[in-house]
Amino acid sequence: MDDFRQRRERMVAEQLQARGIRDSRVLDAMRRVPREAFVRERAEASAYEDHPLPIDAGQTISQPYIVALTLEAAELGENDTVLDVGTGSGYAAAVAAELAHSVVSIERHAELAESAAAVLGRLGYDNVTVVVGDGTNGYPPAAPYDAIVAAAAAPEIPSPWADQLADGGRIIMPIGEPRFGQMLTRAIRGHDGRLQLEQLCAVTFVPLIGDHGVHEHPTEEE
Ligand code: SAM
Repeated sequence: MDDFRQRRERMVAEQLQARGIRDSRVLDAMRRVPREAFVRERAEASAYEDHPLPIDAGQTISQPYIVALTLEAAELGENDTVLDVGTGSGYAAAVAAELAHSVVSIERHAELAESAAAVLGRLGYDNVTVVVGDGTNGYPPAAPYDAIVAAAAAPEIPSPWADQLADGGRIIMPIGEPRFGQMLTRAIRGHDGRLQLEQLCAVTFVPLIGDHGVHEHPTEEE
């Protein structure tokens, strides 16, 4: 067993199972995806630590627990189509790709989208399509989605998302003001098209910047 594999096993036991992640498909996916491939080279040794890490463009790769919690809440099935908003490093897209049929991952920073697509391609995740754009508009060409997951926070769910969600589909995103006071929230679309909201836990994410999210401001790009 190589060193990274051991660290992955320990991360799953100590950070995920110990905090109540129970879905065996999610736990197995987190055991399979080599997180060290998605962090900066000089941060490889820290890849399995219990916190977010910096990536390019002033962004972060999320804490492993938050990725697992988000994807467990999304209840992904093997035939599902997923929209992942905020590709970042591509790590969460890879974990989602282990669980679902196909993933569209959208990122507003072209440099991040390019490097994530390269890593995902190198690792053989051919069921992930990375696109550059404003994910607050969703991505109509591949809709409807069984799940929309977002790793960036806005005061409310972007209005285009509900229209691009299948009946029974799930949105998992942090709702609240940028950088503090956010709630990871699950919204389930009923047959009447209405969203039923459920708060999961308090979190802190970077802002979801875009037409239907937070308005761009230089200090939000620190
Ligand atoms: N899930 C990512 C990973 O596994 O590395 C972490 C994502 S990081 C916490 C949030 C990302 O959302 C950033 O890369 C940021 O540029 C992106 N982002 C923010 N607003 C966005 C928008 N409107 N559309 C697409 N991406 C957005």
